[in-house]
Amino acid sequence: MAVITEAAIRELAGFRGQDAPVTTCYLDVDGRRLSRHRDYEQELERILRSARARANGTESVRSDLGRIEAYVKGGFDRSTTRGLAMFSCSAHEFWKVVALPVPVRSRVVINNAPAVAQLESVAQEFDRFGVLLVDKQRARMLVFQLGELIDHSDLFDELPRDYDTRGHSDQGDVTGHVDALAAAHIRHAADVAFHVFQEQAFEHLTVGAPSGMAGTMESALHPYLRERLCNRIDIGVGANLADIREAALDVEREVERQREAVAVDRLRTQTATGRRAVIGLAASLQALLERRVEQLLVSDDFSEPGWRCEGCGHLGLVGRVCPGCAGELQPVEDIVEEAVEVALAQSCHVEVCVENADLDVMGRIGALLRY
Ligand SMILES: [Zn+2]
Repeated sequence: MAVITEAAIRELAGFRGQDAPVTTCYLDVDGRRLSRHRDYEQELERILRSARARANGTESVRSDLGRIEAYVKGGFDRSTTRGLAMFSCSAHEFWKVVALPVPVRSRVVINNAPAVAQLESVAQEFDRFGVLLVDKQRARMLVFQLGELIDHSDLFDELPRDYDTRGHSDQGDVTGHVDALAAAHIRHAADVAFHVFQEQAFEHLTVGAPSGMAGTMESALHPYLRERLCNRIDIGVGANLADIREAALDVEREVERQREAVAVDRLRTQTATGRRAVIGLAASLQALLERRVEQLLVSDDFSEPGWRCEGCGHLGLVGRVCPGCAGELQPVEDIVEEAVEVALAQSCHVEVCVENADLDVMGRIGALLRY
C-alpha cells in the first residue's frame, strides 16, 4: 500500500478526462463493522445502482462502474485496508486505486475530475507519527505514516535483576545504582527517539510507558520532541505491531480533530470580527474564484449540486448562464468537490473537518482569506 502524499493527491486532482467524466468511488470496507464480504458488496451494489441511474448511459462511466465492481469483487487485502478510493476514466484508460487504513464514506461521484476531498482528509490525518514505548529496560521507537510502519528501532538496557543478592554491603548504594541505570536507560531512549526524529522528521510523538515513567521519559526528551508531544498511548513496550498501529491511529485522529477545531475556531472568530474570512458555500466559491483563499474549511460529508463554466472556470449555485463570460454553465453533481479541487489547484490549504458542529452551523464550508 503506497503512502498518500499531498503531491500525489494534487496530481490526481489535476487529471481531466476532456469530454469524458471521471468516476470516483469511495467504499467503506472496514472489517470491524462489515465483517463479511457480502456486507460491503451490498453497500457497493447500492451506490453503483444509484450511480448507473445518474450515468445517463455514458459509455465511459458505465465501463468505469463495471471496472470498480470487478475490482472490489475480485478481492483485496483486508488485513490493513479499511477504505478504498477508486478513480476511473475508461475513455482515457485512467485507473487508480488507493487502499486506506481508515474507513471512508461510501459514495460514487461522477464529475469532470477525480473527487479527492476524502483522500485529502485522510492524508491530513496522517502526518508522520512517532511512537516511543519504554519500560525499565526496553525502549522501542516506531514511526508510522498513514498507518504504515516506516521506521522501527529497538533498545535494550539490561538491568541486573539479581543485583540485591550479590552481597553488596549497603542497600542504599544498590538502590542508587539501579536508579542511575534506570536514568541512563531513559537518556538512551531519549537519544534513540531524537536520532530517529533527525532521520524521519515526524510531526507528532506519543509516549507509552508505565504510569510512573511516562512523565520522566517525556521531560528527558529533546525540546524539539517535547513540542511534538501529544496524548500518551496506553500500550506496553512488548505489544504486537498491529496493536501499536491501532493505538497510534487513534491518537492521530485525536490530534487531527484538535487541529480542525483550532482552524474552525479561527474561522468563527475572524468572521465575527469581519476580518479576512467568509462562511457559507456561495461566499466561499466567490472567494475561490477571486483567488483570495488561504485555507478552505469544509465538512467531510457536505455535498451540493451546482454549476461550472468550462470556458472561464466559474463555479456557482445558479445556472445556466455564466456571470463571468456569458457562456453556458454545465451542471455538476457536487460543487463542494469542485471547490476542493480548485482550492488544491491554487495551493490553498484544505482542512476537511469531521463531525465539527461549529463548522456545520456556519454553513459547512468557509474560507480564511489572504486579504
Ligand atoms: Zn464562464
